[in-house]
Amino acid sequence: MGIATINPATGELLKAFEPLTDAQIEDCLSRAQQAFEQYRRLPMEQKAGWMQNAANILETDAEKFAKLMTLEMGKPIKSAIAEAKKCAVVCRYYAENAAQFLANVSAESDASHSYVRYEPLGVILAVMPWNFPFWQVFRFAAPALMAGNVGLLKHASNVPQCALAIAEIFTQAGFPEDVFQTLLIGSDKVAQVISDDRVKAGTLTGSEPAGMSFASLAGKHIKKTVLELGGSDPFIVLESADLEAAVQTAVTARMLNNGQSCIAAKRFILASAIADEFERRLAEKFQALKIGDPMAEDTDVGPLATPEILQDIDKQVKTSVEKGAKVLIGGQPLDQPGNFYPPTILSDIPPGTPPYEEEFFGPVALMFRVSNLDDAIKLANSTVFGLGASAWTTDEAERDRLISELDAGAVFINGLVKSDPRLPFGGIKRSGYGRELSIQGIHEFVNIKTVWIK
Ligand code: NDP
Repeated sequence: MGIATINPATGELLKAFEPLTDAQIEDCLSRAQQAFEQYRRLPMEQKAGWMQNAANILETDAEKFAKLMTLEMGKPIKSAIAEAKKCAVVCRYYAENAAQFLANVSAESDASHSYVRYEPLGVILAVMPWNFPFWQVFRFAAPALMAGNVGLLKHASNVPQCALAIAEIFTQAGFPEDVFQTLLIGSDKVAQVISDDRVKAGTLTGSEPAGMSFASLAGKHIKKTVLELGGSDPFIVLESADLEAAVQTAVTARMLNNGQSCIAAKRFILASAIADEFERRLAEKFQALKIGDPMAEDTDVGPLATPEILQDIDKQVKTSVEKGAKVLIGGQPLDQPGNFYPPTILSDIPPGTPPYEEEFFGPVALMFRVSNLDDAIKLANSTVFGLGASAWTTDEAERDRLISELDAGAVFINGLVKSDPRLPFGGIKRSGYGRELSIQGIHEFVNIKTVWIK
């Protein structure tokens, strides 16, 4: 469908954009490189001031930005407002902490003085998805810009107005022209940009095929990448857990963003003793959620972002059911305009079906039962993904085993897996590599330069 805003709640095409021509792409690259030469030399305090301004703009105009997100990709407006405000938090976090994260570090050696200094790499390309159209970009841009890099954003083709608004925020905040540019290009032009000598590194958040293609190209040109790909996060509930708290969190963990989150809980691994009760209470809470117009304040679940995402989830559910899985609630797209799919629960899932192997990017909770902790950990780890894991227990020994034995980039005990600027975020296995946020995030796109003085 090209680069366009299509309302996912109605299917209506609202605005289409012409992709940049090759000559325009060349111009953007050249301006980005020129901007870097100046920008890298500016003092940290100046960059921090602009980043604080960006935070203020995000907070002041949170509702305006939220409406754009909801219009283009369908997340409920209350989540979109929260997203804009969270972007302000990450801007402030790096404005306040970048100087400390990037300060020289002395190291003892045979030199009279040796130390490590952190320098920017240059132009960084960010290929970003539509699911958190502001947050995914700001969590890259805040540390990258504070480190002295400049950013090029290739956003998902269904959120062009969000992409343009983000570039405008950085300009309004006072950052010099071309320090952050949005390139309205399709994925077919990404190869050209990442291969260009002026682009020094890249980051991609999205699907496995996109990550594979992007990292292969970057690898061919010896460029560093960070990949944040899919997940099939486990949500383990053991017998000793606070069941009501677990069920309540399970609803948020699965339904946030209409179920389209890489760190959403997707596979619910339940101790047999509490499984019936957990499923009963979860079904009750899912059925109480309000599905509908994502612009309405009281909507809990809006439409999926695109007809393709709807088709994918529908096919995954149908294939699972054909192979023997049971539908507890939901299971069919809603018969109305827009990409609406209801909260759904699948249980009695036979091995060899999509829930064991694929990411379910929509409001579908997958139920599994285990008889002991060993089996819970084994099942949790039996996927190609390794992003986050949430585990519920009040037993200390169980807790310690879960922390050390779950194969994931993050383990949350008795809580919702979430991103937080103060904590590193990223995955292992086919969920990707590298880390965003925290001190680790700002160190991804810097030259860690060793200095040795006789
Ligand atoms: P994609 O991975 O296709 O899109 C994410 C971004 O990558 C977009 O900017 C897209 O551009 C770009 N892109 C796509 N293909 C390539 C490529 N070969 N080389 C370089 N860039 C590329 O995700 P979809 O929107 O198609 O969603 C499909 C599935 O991906 C979902 O069902 C979900 O499983 C997973 N996903 C995971 C996300 C996460 O947060 N981890 C986020 C989004 C999706 P364009 O839009 O122009 O194609």
